[in-house]
Amino acid sequence: MGVTLKTFMETYPWGRGLLRALRLPPTNGLVTVQYPDVKQQHAERFRYFPFLVYDQTPENLRCVACKICEQECPPQCIHIVGPAKDAQGRPLKAHGRTYPVAFDIDMSICMSCRICVDVCPFDAIEMDNQYELSASDRFDSMVYDQATLLKSAEYFQQIKPTEAAEVDARLAAKAKKAAAPPSPPPTPPAA
Ligand code: SF4
Ligand code: SF4
Repeated sequence: MGVTLKTFMETYPWGRGLLRALRLPPTNGLVTVQYPDVKQQHAERFRYFPFLVYDQTPENLRCVACKICEQECPPQCIHIVGPAKDAQGRPLKAHGRTYPVAFDIDMSICMSCRICVDVCPFDAIEMDNQYELSASDRFDSMVYDQATLLKSAEYFQQIKPTEAAEVDARLAAKAKKAAAPPSPPPTPPAA
């Protein structure tokens, strides 16, 4: 209670004057900002809703439509159609990967738990820090489709440089391993 009262007083000029008169050390005072004129700087770890990551161009999305995130999402707000297939039912590929026909997330249900990010084996989905997403209707605006969800790897590097560097290192190691020639079979022992 004492800390709360002191912070409250420090917020106002009269309170700061009184605290100085009582020789009490200053606190931070006002802990909110005059939003939207002033916006708080968030920590890099701050997260809001997920987005899908693409490399270079939106057609080069990392998502392969494995649907693991859809299965693991606690409130079941991810809806994926795919992977895309040709007329014979064979999976289609873009940039060497299968891809979803549709990928939607109902943001009015998403609880920002980050489980979709943690379970994705392809680092294809990440958490955004964009929070100014108010909308006037419940359905059309809050169900984000694939085109809305797609954001570039460069954007991810800008908003979360530490995490993006870890992801980039992981993907580079995977690519290196995939490109390495297979090791020769062991030589059978001489008879
Ligand atoms: S952050 Fe959580 S609730 Fe939101 S889409 Fe991902 S798994 Fe689902
Ligand atoms: S975002 Fe990841 S886990 Fe979800 S479907 Fe795409 S590749 Fe699979």
